[in-house]
Amino acid sequence: MTRIEFEEKILSKRNFNKKTLDLLWNATQDTIKKFGKIISEEEIVSRIINNLRKNIIDKKEIIDRDVQSSGRYNLNEKTLWMLKKLPKEYYDKVFLHEFLHCISSGERYSGFATEFGGAGLNEGITEYLTQKIRPMDVKSYGILVEIIEALTTIIPEEKIISAYFNDPLELFDELEEKRDQF
Ligand SMILES: [Zn+2]
Repeated sequence: MTRIEFEEKILSKRNFNKKTLDLLWNATQDTIKKFGKIISEEEIVSRIINNLRKNIIDKKEIIDRDVQSSGRYNLNEKTLWMLKKLPKEYYDKVFLHEFLHCISSGERYSGFATEFGGAGLNEGITEYLTQKIRPMDVKSYGILVEIIEALTTIIPEEKIISAYFNDPLELFDELEEKRDQF
């Protein structure tokens, strides 16, 4: 898909500005370069349209002291905000993490976060994938990422990533099968 095709598809459904389109294009290209066999570009575009309603929101500062994050994807509101004054490389990394939350969300799941739980595991896999695409010294969710790394020794990484993007129940089924190895 060319950049023009990408923008035309999104702009036919969403009225996004240039900055939002830039961020979405770059994150989409980074994601398919690494995981294009597991999730297609077309699928990512359709999830962007379904899961993001507004332009990326710039936050000047975090007013809510409970929010320790530098960015957040809100599935209920289908919005994504980013702290504006982050160093460029770190901004791109945080954006990619939030973008992965956005495109791994469906009707019933958001990545590994389901009605049965899994929110912590979801942060672990989201950050694990972010670091695969964009390795950086600044690490988030350390122990949760290590849990995902441990999981890859039991379940093939590709199955874990496929479950993240497509259906977390695939992961739970795999875990059930491998139960005797824990
Ligand atoms: Zn997150």
